[in-house]
Amino acid sequence: MAKLIRCKFCKNFPYIFLKEYRLYLCKEHFISWIENYVYEAIKEYKMFSHKDKILVCVSGGKDSIALVSILNSLGYKIYPFFIDLGIKNFSKTSLKVVYKVCQILNLPLYIYDIKGCLSYSIKEISKALKRSEFCSICGTLKRYIMEIAARYFKVDVIATGHNLNDETENLFLNVLNWKITYLARQGPVLKEEKGFKKKVKPLFKLREKYLYFYVKAKNLPFVEEKCPYSKGATRYIYRKVLNFLEENMPGCLLRFYLEFLRKAKPIFEKALDQESQKLHPCPKCFYPTSRKDKCLVCSYLEKTQKRFKN
Ligand SMILES: [Zn+2]
Ligand SMILES: [Zn+2]
Repeated sequence: MAKLIRCKFCKNFPYIFLKEYRLYLCKEHFISWIENYVYEAIKEYKMFSHKDKILVCVSGGKDSIALVSILNSLGYKIYPFFIDLGIKNFSKTSLKVVYKVCQILNLPLYIYDIKGCLSYSIKEISKALKRSEFCSICGTLKRYIMEIAARYFKVDVIATGHNLNDETENLFLNVLNWKITYLARQGPVLKEEKGFKKKVKPLFKLREKYLYFYVKAKNLPFVEEKCPYSKGATRYIYRKVLNFLEENMPGCLLRFYLEFLRKAKPIFEKALDQESQKLHPCPKCFYPTSRKDKCLVCSYLEKTQKRFKN
């Protein structure tokens, strides 16, 4: 008679099999395993403590929803923060989901509306700049707003929901193109420096698949649709290649990333000229910048203003 497979920690039927850890877990033990795993990573990489205030950027996707839920379960002081990008129905749906999750977890939600605060939508800014790369402008604005919000709320650290797939994809891309500056700076912790807040990625050791199953197990809603502007055809190729490797060699992505942090990153850090980037506060908004005059966002806004006046 075939032996029935049971959860590693109890007699219940397994909800999931974690291939690289050779673990069968029921729903309840899977949830506690994930939360404990993240807790260990937070401690090991000295991301933050229970005394720290943490700004958690929540987009509504499964990763950031998982992050809020995990940090909340672990008892950290979190400030869930949503940036309303003003992108068609996508932003509306995302806000509804994030609001619902915060209600379920009994957390306040802080919202930043791009158009309301910067006077222009991302679409108007990218039109005024006559640039098609919507995603890079959106990314620049998001990073800028995260810093501004972190100062406003006087938090100690900013946490984002990047998972192992995101991180290894970036690493793979940076290696293929030998982007030394990026390789020197890539990692789960970016120290506070030159006026920028400390940034951490508590989920960096977890595959996105497990975060999906975690959010499902917790019965939390999340946004499944992608941003209508995200194209990322090359990203898709990297994702496919890395998934193929992981399916055939379970655990290889985590090894690739951890060994990079241990063996290669220090070499790239040394190679990078420490003086290469001198930062000073933007004369208009005090955001740290390496540009000669105003910061990138202030110059975007100035150009947009001129365009709309004419
Ligand atoms: Zn169990
Ligand atoms: Zn500025």
